[in-house]
Amino acid sequence: MSNSSEVRLADPATILVGGEWRAGDGVHEAFDPSNLSRQTGSYGLATEADVADAYAAAAAAQPQWAGTTAPARARLLRRIGDLLEANSDEAAHALTSDMGKVIRDARGEVLRSAAVFHYHAGEILMPRGEIYPSESPDTFLYTVERPLGVVCAITPWNFPFAIPAWKLAPAIGLGNTVVWKPALDASGSAVFLARLMLEAGLPAGVVNLITGRGGALSGALSGDPRLAGVTFTGSGPVGAGLRQAVADRNVKVQLELGGKNPIVVLADADLGDAAQQIAKGAMFGTGQRCTASSRLYVESPVADELTARIVAEVERLRVGDPFDPSVDVGPLSSPAQHRKVGEYLDLARAEGADSLIGGGLEAECFVQPTVLRGVSAESRLLREEIFGPVLAIEEVADFDAAVASANDTSFGLSSSVFTADLAKALAFTEATESGMVHVNRETGGVEAHVPFGGIKESSNMSREHGPAARHFFTTTKTVYVRTPG
Ligand code: NAP
Repeated sequence: MSNSSEVRLADPATILVGGEWRAGDGVHEAFDPSNLSRQTGSYGLATEADVADAYAAAAAAQPQWAGTTAPARARLLRRIGDLLEANSDEAAHALTSDMGKVIRDARGEVLRSAAVFHYHAGEILMPRGEIYPSESPDTFLYTVERPLGVVCAITPWNFPFAIPAWKLAPAIGLGNTVVWKPALDASGSAVFLARLMLEAGLPAGVVNLITGRGGALSGALSGDPRLAGVTFTGSGPVGAGLRQAVADRNVKVQLELGGKNPIVVLADADLGDAAQQIAKGAMFGTGQRCTASSRLYVESPVADELTARIVAEVERLRVGDPFDPSVDVGPLSSPAQHRKVGEYLDLARAEGADSLIGGGLEAECFVQPTVLRGVSAESRLLREEIFGPVLAIEEVADFDAAVASANDTSFGLSSSVFTADLAKALAFTEATESGMVHVNRETGGVEAHVPFGGIKESSNMSREHGPAARHFFTTTKTVYVRTPG
């Protein structure tokens, strides 16, 4: 692909409506979070009129798109996946420029996004619908899946290729058309992916890209009468607002929200292995993963040893220039994120928590990976999603106390247990209140072909990925065919 970040810098026509690029009303200037003097892009700010045009284009394209054959749609998904693979270096560069993810992980994310398109290219060709016996001898009774119609996809900045891929691949693969609103801070990645989809042969209007401020466009995005479904990944309050905005119209809603993911380590665990996994789970992605490991409950007899091992692992992490392939932890994604994480570090100091390593902000958007001990169970540090590289370690008396503490949260996305005892591991998988649970693995990690999602305040119980995506992006039609005589 010929478009580089330099081309985007000069061209704020980043809104895609009906296959045509257009500028917005004003621009958003974006900066590299590892070097705030380096401008990385200039993105058009869409207006409500642009959103209305995007819905019109999506609605106009939808019947014809749904009328194409599933194999034809599968071929498009496959081409998009192929192009992502072929352009993974450049895509990773755009991603790192947007939000500071280390280049090694950015490339991994782009390749996983390619795998998502490839997966859905196969998934949409799997058998669909059911045949039922009818009470009437002359009636053939069956169901078919039909696309929802026009779907709005709203995506966050922390996985700017992967999360759009989770939503766009099944949405368009199953015959829907999309109005896509990415996070403003991830506009560079979004424009890159949209251009690449056009290069792969995406017909006009099938995906319409709205770069702009979510808060300003909320009413236009959620209020359009042509909207049939909203798929949203982001923060709880914004998700709740969207759900309320569309509730009266029975618009289908998928919400993937925050996490405050616990890890339990029992005394019989392999502590060296656990420490490596936990350091990675808490610090990789600079802690900006909804599935990041943020609370650790460890049985008292091994608490000191495990803590020392985790601190040693964190000490070994290389923090720095995210474009350097040997760096493990890059900056936070933006000055706003930097301020927010800094406030939590201030709170830790004010509450007298022990900071065993880290505990402070650095220049630009950097922050020290931080391990805390002695945080009170009621502290906001253990209740709220920090979304930074901060791990809090607490000692617990036994398995039951660990489970109770792990579940003492309003979130329920992911959780982990480390143990050599199979019975306790399985007991934890039953008792934990989370949509996903890991044994002897950190809390992150997503495979494209299995359901992903949370419970409690982490999700509205919808699931993404794998065959579960089909349930969201389609509706079932029941067909009674009577053949008299
Ligand atoms: P956010 O502020 O909720 O923003 C998410 C998206 O919503 C962005 O595109 C944003 O646009 C848009 N938006 C903001 N206000 C809006 C409104 N009033 N109406 C409609 N759209 C609006 O979340 P974030 O800070 O970008 O992302 C971090 C959050 O996402 C964390 O809570 C994290 O846990 C969660 N997350 C969850 C998962 C999961 O699968 N469970 C995965 C990744 C992240 P602007 O950028 O223009 O504001």
